[in-house]
This record gives sequence, C-alpha cells and structure tokens, in this order.
Amino acid sequence: MRVWRNISELGAGLWTTLRQLGRTSTVSYPEEPLNLPPRWRGRPVLTRDPDGDERCVACQLCSAVCPTRCIELQAGERPDTRRYPLTFRINFSRCIYCGLCEEACPTLAIQLLDEFAFSKEHHADFIYEKEALLIDGTGKHPHYNFYRHSGVALQGRGFWWPAVLVVLLTAVLILLFSRRPDLMVLIQEIGPGTVGRALFGPYLWLTEAVALLLFAVIAAVLAIHRRDDHDA
Ligand code: SF4
Ligand code: SF4
Repeated sequence: MRVWRNISELGAGLWTTLRQLGRTSTVSYPEEPLNLPPRWRGRPVLTRDPDGDERCVACQLCSAVCPTRCIELQAGERPDTRRYPLTFRINFSRCIYCGLCEEACPTLAIQLLDEFAFSKEHHADFIYEKEALLIDGTGKHPHYNFYRHSGVALQGRGFWWPAVLVVLLTAVLILLFSRRPDLMVLIQEIGPGTVGRALFGPYLWLTEAVALLLFAVIAAVLAIHRRDDHDA
C-alpha cells in the first residue's frame, strides 16, 4: 500500500509540472506591471478623508507601536481644536514594512499602499517628511471619515428593549410583593440568613425566576453587542 501511495504522490507532482508546461509566470518588470496581492504592504503613506482633510490626528500610536522606532511626529491643533501632525517623519531605511502602524492607527490615516520600488543612494534620502508622506487620496478606505463615525450614535442600536425588560421585571416583582406581605417581610429582614432561607426554603421558585429573568436580560445585552460588532 505504501508503494502505491508513493507512486500516486509522484504522479500528482509530475502532473502539476506538466500542467505548467507552456505557461509563462515570469514578468518582465519594470516593463510589465506587477499584479500585487490586495494585502500587499508597500511604503506607508498618510491619507486624507473624503473631504480632503488630513486624517491623522497626531495621536502618536503609530510611533509608539513601530518596532524600529522610525516614526517621529509633533502634534499641532487647528483653531477648530482638531489635532493634526505639525511634523511627521518616517525613516524608510529602518522601516520593515510590518504594517503595525497601519493596524494601530485609529483614523485609518497611515496606510501601506503598493509603492515598493524606491531606491536611494544615501541613507539620509530615505527620511521622508510630511510633505512627501501625505498623499491627496483616501487610500484603501475611500468613504471613511473618522469624524463622521467617532462619537456618533448609530441608528437602530441601543439598550431600549433590555431596559424595557428590566422595567417589566421590576413591575412584576412589585406586583408580586404587594400581593404577598410575607415577601415584603422577607425584604425588610434581608440579611445573609434570610437570603439563605430564601434560596433553599419556600422561596426557591422566586429566586430561580428572578435569576432566569436576569440571565435573559444579560443574554439580550450580549446579543445586541455581538450584532453591533458584526454590523460595524
Ligand atoms: S511598517 Fe512597521 S516598521 Fe514601518 S513605519 Fe510602520 S510600524 Fe514602523
Ligand atoms: S498616523 Fe494614525 S496612529 Fe499615527 S499619529 Fe496619525 S492618527 Fe495617530
């Protein structure tokens, strides 16, 4: 059996080779453009939002996360209190194109686009200032504007129906207690001993019902959160 398995694997390998015969996979770069994969990480750039404003809010997160410490910037503030980078510098002779700065950026400002072919004679020429980093386009996220998402209430979301459940639960409990004076006495005498008696005594059904209702409320809140995360 092992012999047959080896023969079949050999045949599969030969078939793969035969299928490639006559095909050309070599690209005559730079005469022919390269077909880069969508998640290619080229030179980091600073992008703008769809309104043409700078996306960067000079939060320094990219600089803090950069493993080679090749990002430096200074924060400035506009008259409308919006922050922006007064200076922004990347030393590309140290950049390893890891993409961590892009991952960390909360405003999608810094992005690793597809530029990879840039060579220089001197190390100093790899230090790019803000003017060379800031592009006119939006990069990979054509419609994203941080200021239209941050702090804005999202339609159809919220906690209104778990709140209604809590109110209904409270109303049911009030009704129940008002019809059962002995339960009111229990509430007035509440303490460790009373709670223990309630849990294991004649009021077990009540505590179970309350626990189930609370569980339902918590599950509902979690479900809403999960749906919101999925929609975001
Ligand atoms: S790609 Fe990596 S090394 Fe380059 S600037 Fe971003 S975090 Fe730093
Ligand atoms: S590029 Fe992004 S992470 Fe870096 S300072 Fe600007 S907003 Fe912050």
